[in-house]
Amino acid sequence: MQKQKDAVEGYRSIAASSLKRSGVLTRGYSCDWQWTNRNGERVAAISLHCIDPSNVQFSYNCDGKPYDYTVQIEWLPCHMGGERAMFLCPVCNKRCAKLLASSVFACRACVGVNYASQQRAKRDAANDQAWKLRRKLACDFGALDAPAHYIPKPKWMRWPTYHKIVSRIEEYDQRSLEGMVQQLKMMGIHL
Ligand SMILES: [Zn+2]
Repeated sequence: MQKQKDAVEGYRSIAASSLKRSGVLTRGYSCDWQWTNRNGERVAAISLHCIDPSNVQFSYNCDGKPYDYTVQIEWLPCHMGGERAMFLCPVCNKRCAKLLASSVFACRACVGVNYASQQRAKRDAANDQAWKLRRKLACDFGALDAPAHYIPKPKWMRWPTYHKIVSRIEEYDQRSLEGMVQQLKMMGIHL
């Protein structure tokens, strides 16, 4: 689980306890919830509206698309008295203390899965490109068999063209391998 946390630690998050502390979980309360950088400058903000203490509306734009949905809050009694606020993840509906900002706010596990599939898509695309170029060089071995500069130059190909293709293959291989390493990390495997 620790490894998954590493991969998603760059995400902005919002804690149910901070909403409670800031008085956001009060019926009818509306505010802009913002994130600042180290210099205290605002880098992102969303609008929150508390419909009632168990339902908070999240509104914001992400990549030019408007999002507007209700996140449920669960109140749990504390040992010390009082109640603790927890989110129900809008994606998996599990209880969580924190939501991470992806296109939608979700628990760490849901954002992690999303992150992994994005990484996989990037890696697959890079791998496809590398293979396309390998075929141009009539090569039938992949990045895991031998580095790109081991691919022999086809007799009919000019050297500059060959070098250009090889260096592009190297770039794609690099990207694809990085994606693979990233994914192994997500699975808790360190090389
Ligand atoms: Zn979830």
